[in-house]
Amino acid sequence: MFIGHFAVGLAAKRIAPRVSLGTLFAAAQLLDLVWPALVLLGLEKVRVDPGNTAFTPLDFVSYPWTHSLLMVLVWATGFALIYLARTGFSRGAWVVGALVLSHWVLDFVTHRPDLPLAPGAAKVGLGLWNSVPATVIVEGTLFVVGVYLCATGTRARNRTGRIAFRALVAFLVGIYVANMLGPPPPSARAIGVAGLAMWLFIPWAVWIDRNREPVHGPSRSAIATSPSS
Ligand SMILES: [Zn+2]
Repeated sequence: MFIGHFAVGLAAKRIAPRVSLGTLFAAAQLLDLVWPALVLLGLEKVRVDPGNTAFTPLDFVSYPWTHSLLMVLVWATGFALIYLARTGFSRGAWVVGALVLSHWVLDFVTHRPDLPLAPGAAKVGLGLWNSVPATVIVEGTLFVVGVYLCATGTRARNRTGRIAFRALVAFLVGIYVANMLGPPPPSARAIGVAGLAMWLFIPWAVWIDRNREPVHGPSRSAIATSPSS
């Protein structure tokens, strides 16, 4: 899944408006942010295999460190604890931890059985990717709902807040369509490099966050001065 993960990050802004959209995106995408680095280092393996599923030409041969359920629980706990230590905001910590875990749950729904329960253990996956229309309907619906929740739960403080948000939505949809209709990537290395480029969405989301504010709840100045609980 791709834009579905961003959809969950956008929707989470409604549940935890005080958490930066950049942090929410980092949590929802954490596994796919670390994964390309491990692919390039040769610690995890992906292969280009057109027809592997109807939706993607990628064969996820081995990714126990980023995409096994056991390790995802470790990543989720670690991310939540680091967030808690830095902010003291426990509700936010629960939300970001749940977001890390949500990535695995959504991948479990979409992937064929290639997600290990633990390194070396049985692999699972419900295989939504075996149907292109079903994938687009499920992921598209998630994305529309996520964008709606974020767009109505926050408002632009200025022109930048409006344009940066709209541009992000358009860009994500553009990449999704290009991935779906374009040729398969030339190599595993190209997948890794393109994957690392996904890090750019984090500063982009931080930038959006600085130029938008929650519709309900305390204003930004009140947030800055409030105790951290
Ligand atoms: Zn993933």
